[in-house]
Amino acid sequence: MKNILDKQIPKGAVGIWWLGQGGFIFKTFRDKIIFVDPYLSDSVEKKDGLKRMVGISIKPEEVAADFLLCTHDHLDHTDPETLYRIDKVKIFIGPSSVVKHYKQLGISAEKIIEINQMKEKIWGDVKIFTAFARHTEDSVGYIFNFNGITVYITGDTEYDEKLKEVSKFKPDIMLVCINGKWGNMNYKEAALLTKNIDPKLVIPMHYGMFKENTANPKDFIRYLEKLNFKGEKKILESNECFLYRKDEK
Ligand SMILES: [Zn+2]
Repeated sequence: MKNILDKQIPKGAVGIWWLGQGGFIFKTFRDKIIFVDPYLSDSVEKKDGLKRMVGISIKPEEVAADFLLCTHDHLDHTDPETLYRIDKVKIFIGPSSVVKHYKQLGISAEKIIEINQMKEKIWGDVKIFTAFARHTEDSVGYIFNFNGITVYITGDTEYDEKLKEVSKFKPDIMLVCINGKWGNMNYKEAALLTKNIDPKLVIPMHYGMFKENTANPKDFIRYLEKLNFKGEKKILESNECFLYRKDEK
């Protein structure tokens, strides 16, 4: 966490760290820190016996952020063992079922904001739009605008024609699930959606955490090439900082 707090983000850029699975941290050049779907415990192993393959780089107690968002109320995204230990987050955001879970975990109501699908909220230089997702009853994806850089994170979702509507936001970066199991797109569907949304850069996610529920990101990249996707493609290493600069594009 210290590395993230200390990291200086230049103007026109955003810092991105992948926590594994669907979890990401974003840092803006105005030092806003945003967590999405942090899974920082072993609760899936305790409940379902699936061992994590990615180390826990940040202890929940250390998490410090302006915003923490969860996309839906599943253990690998809205993790009670992670969330109840967190006390240095200013605002918790999520759809109804996630908000209910936040409250059960004792997060104080004044720190919680509910946003369901297709809604927009703006906090100064951070804009958040909740996109459609087809997974649980009220799952969402998020479209962020960080000082002019648009980042779309699909959350968990099956393929649906409605997802293509995100193309109107002209995302700079798209983070897309590719595992193809338990209610998520497979790499081919994820590539097809990417081709339709046409971001400047795509990053595959939601693989590599559990051996029972993973996919090879290289298959996704190869399929994008087959579809003649013109944007950039990047496979992230978990827990490394990736600096995206818009001005170079
Ligand atoms: Zn998931």
